Amino acid sequence: MKKIVVFSGAGMSAESGISTFRDSNGLWENYKIEEVATPQAWKANPSKVQEFYNMRRKEILNVVPNPAHQLIAQLEAIHKVVIITQNIDDLHERAGSTEVHHLHGNIRLAKSSGPHSEKKYYPIEGDSLRLDNDFCDDGYPLRPHVVWFGEEVPMYEKVIPHIETAEIFIVIGTSLNVFPAAGLIHYCNPNAEKILIDPNAESLKTSSDYTIYPLRAIAGMEKVYNKILKRE
Ligand code: NAD
Repeated sequence: MKKIVVFSGAGMSAESGISTFRDSNGLWENYKIEEVATPQAWKANPSKVQEFYNMRRKEILNVVPNPAHQLIAQLEAIHKVVIITQNIDDLHERAGSTEVHHLHGNIRLAKSSGPHSEKKYYPIEGDSLRLDNDFCDDGYPLRPHVVWFGEEVPMYEKVIPHIETAEIFIVIGTSLNVFPAAGLIHYCNPNAEKILIDPNAESLKTSSDYTIYPLRAIAGMEKVYNKILKRE
């Protein structure tokens, strides 16, 4: 049994039908980040922010995990698999993965918009949070449990030991452009087997010891899954 650590980004869920962040025609193209995904945006116009994430939650609830999520979950039958995802969707969990660390939060959860936001997470029933109706125990309106641009990434330090101890490290569907998350790949042990799956892989900034699969998540994971399985 080996320890496999998967570091996933928006491209992981693209074939499930969820828009990525930077690709053209992405949902984000129609929005300015600073108007929907920053603490300043929440201060200036919380309804707009709430509405944006309500829409995204609806989108996520309407899709299902794709075969790439499923293959990663199936690896647990033979290996220890830890997923560190930048995604706020829960498609890894719904595919059956049991250890998923969300660096940027989980849109199915809410937290306080007050000063102690990381104290408690509240499951959201249905797809919407309402400013006038949904409050935290401390009296503040609930906000989505997502890390906005400019906010700290509380999970960052917690996941480093997993990356340091990975024997197989799979980076999949991330442009490695969003920091500090992208910096995590540098904690990987030099002796680990490193794999990169992304249609744009050849232009991504990783070290030269990665085996590169310039493919979409499903096609890439099929190859990697079979390669890992053949060794058993
Ligand atoms: P990104 O949008 O910056 O990069 C997406 C990457 O996925 C690109 O490198 C692209 O080449 C690749 N890609 C596109 N289609 C693919 C496919 N079918 N298979 C595999 N790869 C594919 O995404 P990022 O690096 O994750 O950073 C964006 C930030 O936005 C993240 O922090 C994340 O929190 C957030 N985000 C999350 C979701 C989600 O939860 N599903 C969606 C959009 C954005």
